[in-house]
Amino acid sequence: MSAPKISLQSETTAKSAGCASSTCGSSARPSDMEPAIWEKVKDHPCYSEEAHHYFARMHVAVAPACNIQCNYCNRKFDCANESRPGVVSEKLTPDQAVRKVIAVANEVPQLSVLGIAGPGDACFDWHKTKATFERIVNEIPDLKLCISTNGLALPDHVAELCDMNVDHVTITVNMVDPEVGARIYPWIFYKHRRYTGVEAARILHERQMLGLEMLTARGILTKINSVMIPGVNDEHLIEVNKWVKERGAFLHNIMPLISNREHGTHYGLTGQRGPKAMELKALQDRLDGGAKLMRHCRQCRADAVGLLGDDRGQEFTLGQISDEVTYDASRRDAYREVVARERGDRAVAKSEATELVKAAGSGKSLLVAVASKGGGRVNAHFGHAREFQVYEASPKGISLVGHRTVEQYCLGGWGEDATLKGVIAALEGIDVVLCAKIGDCPKAQLRGAGIRAMDDYGYEHIETAISTVYAAEFGAKPLAATA
Ligand code: SF4
Ligand code: SF4
Repeated sequence: MSAPKISLQSETTAKSAGCASSTCGSSARPSDMEPAIWEKVKDHPCYSEEAHHYFARMHVAVAPACNIQCNYCNRKFDCANESRPGVVSEKLTPDQAVRKVIAVANEVPQLSVLGIAGPGDACFDWHKTKATFERIVNEIPDLKLCISTNGLALPDHVAELCDMNVDHVTITVNMVDPEVGARIYPWIFYKHRRYTGVEAARILHERQMLGLEMLTARGILTKINSVMIPGVNDEHLIEVNKWVKERGAFLHNIMPLISNREHGTHYGLTGQRGPKAMELKALQDRLDGGAKLMRHCRQCRADAVGLLGDDRGQEFTLGQISDEVTYDASRRDAYREVVARERGDRAVAKSEATELVKAAGSGKSLLVAVASKGGGRVNAHFGHAREFQVYEASPKGISLVGHRTVEQYCLGGWGEDATLKGVIAALEGIDVVLCAKIGDCPKAQLRGAGIRAMDDYGYEHIETAISTVYAAEFGAKPLAATA
C-alpha cells in the first residue's frame, strides 16, 4: 500500500512550507544540546519547545488512585499537576487505553508521545500504568512513553521504567523545605500509614529527591513541575530550582496555581489566589541561569489528545472508537518526512531572525502574542484563537516565554464585545499581536488598550515575523523576508 499524501499545510493550514530543497539536512538541534539528548527530545512536544510546533501527545486516564493530597486538587477533577481542572471524560482500563491510542495514532499523524498523568498518580496506580505501556510497546514501538508522578512511589519503579524504555518522567516538586510542604500537602499515605504535617512533607521531599537522583543516574530525562502558589512557595521555588538542577533535572516547569472556587479544592475554597501572568513571567525571568525552564506548558487534561493548546480529546471518546482497531503507520511516517524538511527551513529562518534582532542593538524588548495553529507559523485568525503564544524579542534573541489562554472571540462569523474585553484583559502587558487576519473593530479596541495588532505577516515563520516587527520598531535593516 502506498503512503497517503500528507503535508504540514493540511495539518496546520500553513500557506507556504518553504523550499523543501534549500535546507534539507539543516538541523533544528540547539547548539548547546548533545546529539544523543536531541534524539530523545526532538519529537517530544513538552521536552522541546521546537518540537511542540509539530508534534502531539496524548494522555490516557488509566491511573485514578493517588497516595497524597495536594491542597490544589479535588479528586473529582483532573490531576491539577498535569491538567486544567475539568472532569476526566472517562477513566480507561489498560485494554481500552490501548484501543484508544491505536485509533488516535491512525488519525493524528503528529502523535509522538503517550503519557500517563493520572488522573491520580501513575506510580501509585502502577499495575495499570505498566500494563498499558507493555502493550503499547508491542503495538506502536516508536511511540515515546512518558509518566507524571508526585514522586512518593517513584523510587520503587525506576528499574521497571528503565526496562520499559520510558525515558521521560515528570515529578511535581513544590517544595524542598517540609515547613513549606506542610502548607501544600495535608497528608500522604506511605507504607500502609497515613502521615500528616511536616513529617508527611519531609517523607515526600526525600522520596522525590531520591527518585530524581535514580532517574538521572540511569539517563532518564526528568522534568520537574512546580505549582506557583503566591505567598506559599513563590519565593521558595528559587531554592527548588537550585536543588533540582544539582540533581540533574532536564527541565523545570513553573505552572500557575489554578484555584477557582467552583473546583472545590482547599485552596479554591479558602481564597488562595493563583499568580497573574506577569507575576509568573517575573519569577521565570529570575530563574534564568538555573535549571532550564519549560515555558510552553499548557497544563493539559489527564485525557488530552493533540498538539499542545489544541485538545482533540472529545473526538476520541470510547463510544467513537470501533471495537477492532489495527495500527497503520503510514500517515505518521509520511508526516515525519514532511516535518523533517519543514523544521530545517524553520531553523534557518529562526537563525536569521535572531541575528536581525541582535543587530538592532537597541537594548529594548518587545512582548509579542502570536495566533498560531501549529507548524511554527503565524497562521490563526485573531477571532478564532483560543490561545496566544507569547514571545519576547530582546537583545538576547527571540524566545517563547509563555502563552495566554482566551475565550474564542469570533463564533459563526460574529464577535461578542464581552468576549473581546476578556481577550484584551488576558493580553495585559503585550506590545504587539500577530495573527493571520483581524477585523477593523477588534484591531481598534486593541489599539485603545495600547496593543498593536497586525495581520501583515500571516503564514510567515513566527520568528521571521517578530524580527521584522522588531527591526521596524527599533531601526535595524530587515533581512530578506521569506517569500
Ligand atoms: S498528586 Fe495529582 S491526583 Fe494526587 S492529590 Fe496531587 S494533584 Fe491530585
Ligand atoms: S501538562 Fe505540560 S508537560 Fe504535561 S503534556 Fe501538557 S504541556 Fe506537556
